Amino acid sequence: MTSKDREAAVIAAVPKQLLIGDAWREAEGGATLPVEDPSTGETLCDVADATPADGMAALEEAAAAQGDWAATAPRRRSEILHDAFRLLMERQDDLALLMTLEMGKPIAEAKGEVAYAAEFLRWFSEEAVRIHGDYAVAPDGQSRFIVTRQPVGPSLLITPWNFPMAMGGRKIGPAIAAGCTMVIKPASQTPLSMLALAEILREVGLPDGVLNVLTTSKSGGVMEPLIRDHRARKLSFTGSTPVGRMLLEQCADQVLRTSMELGGNAPFIVFDDADLDLAVEGAMLAKMRNIGEACTAANRFYVQRSVADQFARRMADRMGGLKVGRGTEDDVQVGPLIDADGRNKVQWLVDDAVERGARVLTGGSAVSGSGYFYSPTVITDVPLQARMQQEEIFGPVAPITIFDDEDEVVADANDTPFGLVSYLFTTNIDRGIRVSERLEAGMVGLNRGIVSNPAAPFGGVKQSGLGREGGRIGIDEFLEVKYVNVNLS
Ligand code: NAP
Repeated sequence: MTSKDREAAVIAAVPKQLLIGDAWREAEGGATLPVEDPSTGETLCDVADATPADGMAALEEAAAAQGDWAATAPRRRSEILHDAFRLLMERQDDLALLMTLEMGKPIAEAKGEVAYAAEFLRWFSEEAVRIHGDYAVAPDGQSRFIVTRQPVGPSLLITPWNFPMAMGGRKIGPAIAAGCTMVIKPASQTPLSMLALAEILREVGLPDGVLNVLTTSKSGGVMEPLIRDHRARKLSFTGSTPVGRMLLEQCADQVLRTSMELGGNAPFIVFDDADLDLAVEGAMLAKMRNIGEACTAANRFYVQRSVADQFARRMADRMGGLKVGRGTEDDVQVGPLIDADGRNKVQWLVDDAVERGARVLTGGSAVSGSGYFYSPTVITDVPLQARMQQEEIFGPVAPITIFDDEDEVVADANDTPFGLVSYLFTTNIDRGIRVSERLEAGMVGLNRGIVSNPAAPFGGVKQSGLGREGGRIGIDEFLEVKYVNVNLS
């Protein structure tokens, strides 16, 4: 089979309709929306474009299925998740190709994301059977408290384009484990990975109505009525802070439970006592995972003066040597950005920094030709006033700023409304702990350029979000605590 035939085959294998209740259905009126390959700008296929009526039908199915699903044995919910984990891993290569085609990330990273998504299902298959409660004697001895945890109920899940399968797995896994039914809306630019994941869950026996999938070009028009409907009990959102803030306002209507995984602006701090080999390795991971299009991406590099030149030169060598191209080719390390707007924003941020006195060491421009490629870029002497110090770059650009002392760098690192993740490199353990505690972030990578792990609580503080996904507490986002006070006569 030629590579073109294989690409066509993996796309053909995915359902293109809406999953509502027991069947894949066309959107009302038969409308569709195109899915583009960002490495060529060409249309890969069309998927159903849901209307508000389709959205309401999906919520009705989720609400109708909730009672039976909550009563399904935890062991059964666990087995469904475990079987889905196994099937994802069996089909890892095809699913990775599908993801690379719609999103652009290099195939090795897409394989990693399929495994990461699968691991959430495995992790929560293990948590499904460990939903424990409590039993206590009331302080006055007159009654007994039974504390239990129950599913929140029908949950609305909204995911972004940058991790099209893992962000879904991170929500679907705990929702299934907890006994919640769902309506999920993947990003309109990358719906195929989610459609494939939903079909796998059906194959392994997820009951009808438990998971409903809406692809749509009218996200607000379709989701707002569901958020304001009394049958929905929860919104779990991953995406940008402005959209998250607007959704929080909508959630106030029904006082919905919310989980918000929002934007980041991660500082990456290198002290002069750091192991520079480790710091450069960590920087490449923290910056270049997902072409820089990650909420956890290192957005601001702060390097202590005496090692700043050396660090910048080594980063420029590494970044300048990366192979840029279509992610389907095995040796490509940097794929295209998601679209023209994303690439224009990166260029605008680089131009702004240069106008304010920053120096480009490598890259600094878009790659000509089809697709939305941008050259891996290192810029140094970036002033604190540059726009990229405040905004997510979401591209392969590493801006370096020099600092002199610990208090100064902690103040600069915390000078942002975001607080998702911070990275810091030092061989001084006292400093490592001290600075980790002072950084305003939900997660810290200490001598590590990657923090994400399904077994750990992922999430941010400040305007980076509310709640945690993954880890032992990830399932709590989909559970309510109930206590029964038992009278003793
Ligand atoms: P986005 O524009 O906020 O979109 C995220 C999702 O929300 C998409 O499914 C989008 O649908 C949907 N959406 C947009 N407007 C909506 C509305 N009015 N009502 C309901 N849904 C709406 O973000 P993005 O550009 O896809 O993703 C990048 C952002 O996500 C970055 O800020 C990144 O930091 C953040 N992110 C955070 C985490 C985390 O865990 N903290 C992880 C990954 C990404 P459409 O596709 O149809 O617009």
